Amino acid sequence: MPLLAKSLNEIQEALRRGELTCESLVRSYLTQIEKTSHLNAYLEVYGEEAVALAQAQDRIFTERSIIPGKLWGAVFSIKDVISYKDHVLTAGSKMLQGYRALYSATAVQRLLNEGAIIIGRVNCDEFAMGSDNERSYYGPVKNALDEQKIPGGSSGGSAVSVQANTCLMSLGSDTGGSVRQPASFCNLIGFKPSYGRISRHGLIAYASSFDQIGVIGRNLDDIRVAYQVMQGPDKYDGTLVSQDSVLEKQDSVGAPMRLAYIEQSLTHTGLHDDIKRAFKSNITKWKSQGHVVDAVSFELMDFVIPSYYVLTAAEASSNLSRYDGIRYGYRTDAAGKLDEMYTRSRTEGFGAEVKRRILLGTFVLSVGYYDAYFAKAQKVRRLIRNQFEAWTKQYDAIVMPMTPTTAWQIGSGKSPVEIYLADIYSVLANLVGSPAISIPLGHDAVKMPFGLQILSACFTEEKLFSIAHLCETDVKSV
Ligand code: GLN
Repeated sequence: MPLLAKSLNEIQEALRRGELTCESLVRSYLTQIEKTSHLNAYLEVYGEEAVALAQAQDRIFTERSIIPGKLWGAVFSIKDVISYKDHVLTAGSKMLQGYRALYSATAVQRLLNEGAIIIGRVNCDEFAMGSDNERSYYGPVKNALDEQKIPGGSSGGSAVSVQANTCLMSLGSDTGGSVRQPASFCNLIGFKPSYGRISRHGLIAYASSFDQIGVIGRNLDDIRVAYQVMQGPDKYDGTLVSQDSVLEKQDSVGAPMRLAYIEQSLTHTGLHDDIKRAFKSNITKWKSQGHVVDAVSFELMDFVIPSYYVLTAAEASSNLSRYDGIRYGYRTDAAGKLDEMYTRSRTEGFGAEVKRRILLGTFVLSVGYYDAYFAKAQKVRRLIRNQFEAWTKQYDAIVMPMTPTTAWQIGSGKSPVEIYLADIYSVLANLVGSPAISIPLGHDAVKMPFGLQILSACFTEEKLFSIAHLCETDVKSV
């Protein structure tokens, strides 16, 4: 197995035996970053800094046999919406060009505390709004499997940085699929924990009641370790669950597994035949292995996308009001009255997709339309959650395709609505706050990958990982 494709466990074994040093590992990744720079995954590479940290860790290990922590030898890239103290943070936007983070996100700090090394900041759709990574002010990211194709988004840089073997794992953010969907398009694993598991402190807010930090990697166990290091209460994020409720719900899965799939997810007109076939053949296989796999009906399926987009746009319009050229962000050069200065700064600083969502969000929150759109979408969200809770009382997990199609062409000219509709399977987990994971499921006729998505009850991450392990064995033999 080539060095850069090794799992964390294999890396740590090699470090322990002295066959590998952190420095040589980091240098190999840096060479790989250079070789693949045309993919546009990295916005900034922390070369010298990463090498210096690796050297320090090597010294401590050889001189004093001290291992820096659980993430010794784990090299990460981080999405450009996650704060790393004194490092530039732009959210893929002109609005924050040159802005430096004043503190590190709790998630980042916890990785560092366990010996992880951060190698660079990676590209994403502006303010994490998008599904293709074509909405970054810093240009699109290319899928390493076919450079004419998108890597997915909004954490496209995260996915490609792992796909191109430039790091072991990447931190992304997942508001409506942004970690899982690009993982699926790049043949990787993408994991989003329950809402309330990983602190959002230091994560640039898009839609606060949906946002979670997630991980993209190649190996389930690696991702699980990273998750375990980052999760847990933090005084800076009041929405995190307490450790007690964490323990209560961590039951593991027994055999046979009890799985449900949503009937309407397979009758969806946009679903690619190859994906449908691969998914169905897995259902047959699980059944033949003695697992329970039932179809459940989801009458609210058609309301998933509208409620997600109404609510996230509303939250975004509020969260993004701080970028006014005074408190934060780009300020126009054109002088004028105060009102004009705000307007010009925001007009020049934000890209089209971000503006579209701010306008949509402001509209659905406005006095005349609040009840018709925002309040109604909140009610629909509650109904969807109730339905999901009922399923998870009966089943260990809900399985479905991650995406209706594989990655599309860069510059395909798809309309915004077409792109929103492609999120049909990804936003459910965020509406209900559950953990979800995408693992490789198969390839279409032109060898582009697609993923299998698994969702389990809120705060049952350990169970989700064990189900993913069971399904992974099957998937590999597809
Ligand atoms: N594609 C979704 C959106 O544009 C998801 C974004 C995300 O998860 N950050 O809102």
